[in-house]
Amino acid sequence: MRVLITGGAGFIGSHLAEEYLEHGDEVYLIDDLSTGSLENIRHLQQNENLSGRLFVTVDTVLNREKMIELVGTCDVVFHLAAAVGVRFILDNPLDSIITNVRGTEMVLEVCHLFKKRVLIASTSEVYGKHMHAPLVETDNCIYGPSSKFRWSYAAAKLIDEFTALAYHRTKGLPVIVCRLFNTVGPRQSGEYGMVLPRFVQKALAGEAITVYGDGTQTRTFTHVRDVVAAFTRLILTQEAYGEVVNVGGVEEISILRLAEKIREKSGSASPIHIIPYDQAYPRDFEDMQRRVPSVDKLRQLTGFAPTMCLDGILDDVVDHFRKGGPP
Ligand code: UDP
Repeated sequence: MRVLITGGAGFIGSHLAEEYLEHGDEVYLIDDLSTGSLENIRHLQQNENLSGRLFVTVDTVLNREKMIELVGTCDVVFHLAAAVGVRFILDNPLDSIITNVRGTEMVLEVCHLFKKRVLIASTSEVYGKHMHAPLVETDNCIYGPSSKFRWSYAAAKLIDEFTALAYHRTKGLPVIVCRLFNTVGPRQSGEYGMVLPRFVQKALAGEAITVYGDGTQTRTFTHVRDVVAAFTRLILTQEAYGEVVNVGGVEEISILRLAEKIREKSGSASPIHIIPYDQAYPRDFEDMQRRVPSVDKLRQLTGFAPTMCLDGILDDVVDHFRKGGPP
C-alpha cells in the first residue's frame, strides 16, 4: 500500500510512518517543519531496509499542485498536519487558524478529486468545557467566548470535522475523524507546552516542575503506539467512514499527581511549583478541567482499544528522555 501522511515529520506522524514502513508499505510524508522535525524521521532515512520506500516532501499542505501529485500517488491519506499545543496556538493564533482550517479543506478537496480514503486527526479539545466523564462522540461542544483564544483551536478543529462529515454526507468521501486525547510518547517535544515531556525534562534536570492552576485539573494519556494501532485499524474499517471516533487512554489523573509521579519515577528531588494560570500563559487562556474519553465506539468498530496503562506510559517517556531523546 502507498500511504500519505501529512505532518509526517511530527511526533505522531513519524511513528505512523515507521509502522507502515516496517510492514513493507511505501510511505510518502509531507511536512512544513513548523513544529515537526527531520530529526524525528532521521533513523528511518538512515535505515537501508526502509529508506527506499520513504519519500519526504518539505512543503505545506496548502500547496495544491504538490498535494494533487501526492494524493494521486497514494492509496490512503492520514491528515495529521496541524498547529497543535495550547501554548503554540496562543502564541500564533492567526497562523494556527489558517493552517488548521484551510489545510484540512485542501486535503479533503484533493482526496475527493481522487476518491481516496482519508483519516483526519481531530482533538478532544472540540468537546470544550465538560465536567462529566466519559466523553462520548455525541456529547455537546461547550466553549468559552471568542475573547479567550484557546477556544479558537477547538472551533477550528470543529470546522474541520464538519467539513469532513459534509464531504462524506454530500459526496460520499470515505473519511474518518479521530478525536485524540493527550497523546504522549517518545519524540514528543515539550516546546509547545505539552505537559508530560515538560515535567519529565524538568524532573531529570533537577529543576522545578511547574503545575499550572491548582493542579486539580485532570487528563488521560494515550501512548502514541496505541494511537498508531487505532489509526491503522480504522482506515481499513468500512463502517468507520463518516464517523467521529475517540482515541484515548481512560486512566484519569490530576496534573498535580502527575507531577508527583514523574518526580518519583525519575528519582528526582525537583520541587513542584504551583503557578497561577495568568503567570503561566499569555492572556486569554482558559483551562479544561477534565477530559476523559469513552472508547466504546473505537472498540465496537475495530475490536481495539488502547492497551498501555498509565504507569507503563510514564515509564516509557521517562526512559526515553533518560536515554537522550529522539529517535
Ligand atoms: N500544564 C502544567 N504545566 C506545564 C504544562 C501544562 O501544569 O508545564 C497543565 C496545563 O495547564 C493543563 C494540563 O497540564 O491543565 C495539560 O496541558 P497540555 O498543554 O499538555 O494539554 P491540554 O491542555 O491540551 O490537555
